Amino acid sequence: MHTATQQTIDDLVGPLDFDPRDLLRKYEHERDKRIQTKGNTQYVPTVEGKFKDYARDPWVDPGFTRAPIVDHTEVIVAGGGFGGLLVGARLREAGFRDIRIVEEAGDFGGTWYWNRYPGAMCDIEAHIYLPLLEELNYAPRHRYAYAPEMLEHSQRIGKHYGLFDKACFQTVITAVSWIEEQGRWLVETDRGDRMTATYFVLSCGRQSLPKLPGIPGIDEFQGHAFHSSRWDYAYTGGDSGGDLIGLGDKTVAVVGTGATSVQIVPEVAKWAKRLLVFQRTPSTIGVRGQRETPPDWADMSKPGWHKARRENFQRLISNIQQDIDYVHDGWTEISGMLTPIPRKEIVARLGRKPTREEIAYLNEIADYRAMNGIRARVEAVVKDPATAEALKPWYRWLCKRPCFHDDYLEAFNRPGVELVDTAGRGVERLTTRGVVVGDREYAADCIVFATGFEAGITYTRLLGFEITGREGTRLGDHWRDGVRTLHGMTTDRFPNCLFVGGNQQTVAAVNAVHLLDEQARHLAFVLREARKRGASRIEPTTEAVDSYVDLIRSSPRNKAQVDFYASCTPGYYNGEGKARRGEDLFVGGRYPDGAMPFYDMLAAWRASGNLEGFRLG
Ligand code: NDP
Repeated sequence: MHTATQQTIDDLVGPLDFDPRDLLRKYEHERDKRIQTKGNTQYVPTVEGKFKDYARDPWVDPGFTRAPIVDHTEVIVAGGGFGGLLVGARLREAGFRDIRIVEEAGDFGGTWYWNRYPGAMCDIEAHIYLPLLEELNYAPRHRYAYAPEMLEHSQRIGKHYGLFDKACFQTVITAVSWIEEQGRWLVETDRGDRMTATYFVLSCGRQSLPKLPGIPGIDEFQGHAFHSSRWDYAYTGGDSGGDLIGLGDKTVAVVGTGATSVQIVPEVAKWAKRLLVFQRTPSTIGVRGQRETPPDWADMSKPGWHKARRENFQRLISNIQQDIDYVHDGWTEISGMLTPIPRKEIVARLGRKPTREEIAYLNEIADYRAMNGIRARVEAVVKDPATAEALKPWYRWLCKRPCFHDDYLEAFNRPGVELVDTAGRGVERLTTRGVVVGDREYAADCIVFATGFEAGITYTRLLGFEITGREGTRLGDHWRDGVRTLHGMTTDRFPNCLFVGGNQQTVAAVNAVHLLDEQARHLAFVLREARKRGASRIEPTTEAVDSYVDLIRSSPRNKAQVDFYASCTPGYYNGEGKARRGEDLFVGGRYPDGAMPFYDMLAAWRASGNLEGFRLG
């Protein structure tokens, strides 16, 4: 019996112009046809073996040599992307001067060092994505910064904070081990270096190794082929801004339709004689709204604007109500659509607390509506009905990395552009001449593999070197049954070793650089406090690590996340459809309450001032 003001869950949902059961069946069908037994092993890595050339650094001159380094540095940071740069910057601000970044690439930049493909840009608003804007008084030129500007910004940070001074580029770490009697780390490299450090910081990224589909004939193609993250401008002509004049007489095959391909396709479509886009699963393409930053842009005028803007974005996409939406982009808009009724209002309208099932139902309907909007946009933009139909994504919005672009869908209206939809099967094989799907061979002059990167579920899988802590404990063994850390940043048996990045036991942050900055500040605080207290050695206690691991593993939210991703189409988020535990998800095993509560928890921990959970020596 309902009072006049009390409503049912169906009242809250409102009238439906679709049958949710039909959509659910369609989603399950689309997922099931993509599930394959091979999981992650369907790919071949490029880190070594016969595909190593695909990962070769095209941006340095070959033949670089230098004498091995044997010295001591207070802090060695592995990785010179935004993570390593932020660690360097925040440590400098905290009074640390002796810092060395060791980096495989020829310069700082990480993602933006490697990814220089045409059209490359950030897909999070540059004013919240780029680090240290306020400190460097720098305004990104566009709402979404292009890759060269982000590479430049990396160098700007490096120069401003003096991080070039001791940096070692084109240097690959081969082993890291704790020397107990010296209380130091020994870092060995492929250049014969034997460097020691009081502190070792790992900031190597989670998606740095290009991968290729492990399909028959992958090494038989006689034309030109490269991975998206190693773009060959010597072949295509031009640069990341366009002018790909080398493609004027070429048929180009782009394999993959993820976030990278979505940026490449509109550019190559302008220059290639013919462009074939091989699709296994379509991405969601929201509106991006690229524009130049106006010269009188007032949003940067108030001190603290950068932090406030980032936090406002993070809160909005986490369904935490805000009075204002500074960024106001596809992320905040669609996130808002996914939770259209605030919880307080639900309770008021139902006259009681909703059940978990009711919330799940409301969320599911909201997701269908948001995705119907995405699918309607495809239909409105793409003229050929069969192509439009094939470009429609049939899964929940967060099953795959959402994409936003103003020109991707439009590119399929160009006469020379053809979508080759593989109906979820993927490209089946390569021949000497081209690409095979079903019983048809598509001849191509050039293949661009926009097929993504090895997904680092734990650090140890991607690193390519072992970290050996106290009493010979190897990190790979220490974490054999899952990652164990305090705050995702330190672990027992590994003194003075800190981890930075979107690793397990931190949070899955849409704005990854925001997370990196929070971690860099936290790390700088811990090291400064240790120094203040005269300690040269810090290590979390086993009890503190156990209790943090427990907090994560016992959370019902992690179980809900596993169920959600099990319902999704395969991809690197869900171990190609095989993940059954939080620990197997790319975004799994996280601090249960989400990003802002994680940052707030770290801030409260710092404010308490007693370095709780650490043993100092
Ligand atoms: P992804 O792993 O997202 O995409 C790989 C693509 O290759 C998918 O479409 C996949 O299909 C497809 N694929 C794999 N095997 C085959 C096959 N045999 N036949 C046909 N297609 C195949 O890699 P991306 O490089 O696109 O993106 C990686 C991540 O990098 C993004 O998720 C994002 O986080 C980040 N990124 C960020 C950007 C930014 O601006 N900040 C820009 C670009 C990327 P399927 O979906 O079916 O698996």
